[in-house]
Amino acid sequence: MAHIVIMGAGIGGMPAAYELRELLPKEHQITVVSAVSYFQFVPSNPWVAVGWRQRDDIVLEIGPLLARKGIAFVPQAVTTIDAPGNTLTLADGQSLSYDYLVITTGPKLSFDEVPGAGPHGGHTHSVCSVDHAQAFWHDYEQFLKNPGPIVVGAMPMASCFGPAYEFAFIVDADLRKRKLRHKVPMTYVTSEPYIGHLGLGGVGDSKSMLESELRNHDIKWICNARTTKVEAGRLFTTEVDGLGNVYKEHEVPFKLAMMLPAFKGVDAVAAVPGLCNPRGFVLIDEFQRSKAYRNIFSAGVCVAIPPVETTPVPTGAPKTGYMIETMVSAIAHNIADELAGRPVTAQGTWNAICLADMGDTGAAFVALPQIPPRNVNWFKKGKWVHLAKIAFEKYFLSKMKSGNSEPVYEKYVLKALGIVRLTDR
Ligand SMILES: Cc1cc2nc3c(=O)[nH]c(=O)nc-3n(C[C@H](O)[C@H](O)[C@H](O)COP(=O)(O)OP(=O)(O)OC[C@H]3O[C@@H](n4cnc5c(N)ncnc54)[C@H](O)[C@@H]3O)c2cc1C
Repeated sequence: MAHIVIMGAGIGGMPAAYELRELLPKEHQITVVSAVSYFQFVPSNPWVAVGWRQRDDIVLEIGPLLARKGIAFVPQAVTTIDAPGNTLTLADGQSLSYDYLVITTGPKLSFDEVPGAGPHGGHTHSVCSVDHAQAFWHDYEQFLKNPGPIVVGAMPMASCFGPAYEFAFIVDADLRKRKLRHKVPMTYVTSEPYIGHLGLGGVGDSKSMLESELRNHDIKWICNARTTKVEAGRLFTTEVDGLGNVYKEHEVPFKLAMMLPAFKGVDAVAAVPGLCNPRGFVLIDEFQRSKAYRNIFSAGVCVAIPPVETTPVPTGAPKTGYMIETMVSAIAHNIADELAGRPVTAQGTWNAICLADMGDTGAAFVALPQIPPRNVNWFKKGKWVHLAKIAFEKYFLSKMKSGNSEPVYEKYVLKALGIVRLTDR
């Protein structure tokens, strides 16, 4: 009998648990250990931040859901991984041994890289967790009584730009509905070298389309922005040129700010000798397996993938739902194969596919493969994307409730887009 422990219960961890349970014979034990007792559907956090969703709409208590499938659950953060000894130490002091460890711990939100940033004592908000989104909503409700300038964007070393654009357009749409938009100057401040770069070197016509959207929505922008500090009501950012030399210093006033932070790997994972790159992301081979520890696999935002290109202000490549889904599926098949005495062969795909809501419309992109030149390089805008994103939310949450391990992106999103065959993997 083998004991498989999954660390983290997010977009990667929960499907990993369900798919492993489906593939592995019953004698093998599966345990999920996660820092909090609930699953949150992270892609809906921007909607929580403007009151379009309540916390309970997108959060599920997972203990009972996992128990129903015969999966054990420990709601504790892992503080130490003894990789050579195959043992975890948890926040309450207990130890947990494993035969296989699957790391799906997402990002550490590294607000401390910019003094004055972040929702914990700083002056900027985030929508990366449901708690952060609720904190924005709390301040936004006050802001609506006496509006002023808003800044939205992404700090240096952020690796998830879609949600920054998404949030700018969602706030714009919400303010228009409230007939308050004319009182709110908006600025999009980003470490990307140009609008629509998305950490991907652009996708199709993303540059001109997103520039046009920002113009049409009266949102000004600053690119190549090395944000250096934030004070109450003022964001300090250095705009650099293509060579990284200072072009212009900006002091952007704001009443409310949402800046996606730099991403790193979480402390317990980053501390394991030989497991990670210098930013704490897990180094894996083509089978999602640690290069240093053969019984550790990893998927999701916590894995190391190289940036698509070097940018004057550092940016990272995004890891989105479809990519995570295929990584998780590869891990489940590889562990099942190894336990059955077969060699591992399953590989994830590092293609980027994303649906970004824009309030009443939306933008979808497909970058396949992630590093150009690409076989599919597709960026489209339309109301259907907004509806597709709602459908994605509803389906993913119902899948988490039922314990179904069916791949959402492959089965529905890609078919709906009608442009990617599964063989394109
Ligand atoms: C605001 C936002 C919107 C996004 N929207 C989309 C979208 O529309 N479409 C899309 O495809 N992608 C989207 N993404 C990208 C990506 O799909 C999400 O970031 C996704 O949540 C990543 O999944 P994950 O499993 O890697 O990490 P998470 O979902 O963040 O899960 C990490 C888990 O690890 C746990 N954990 C962390 N540290 C520890 C520890 N020490 N011990 C135990 N447990 C721990 C956490 O509690 C959590 O359960 C979005 C990202 C953001 C930030």
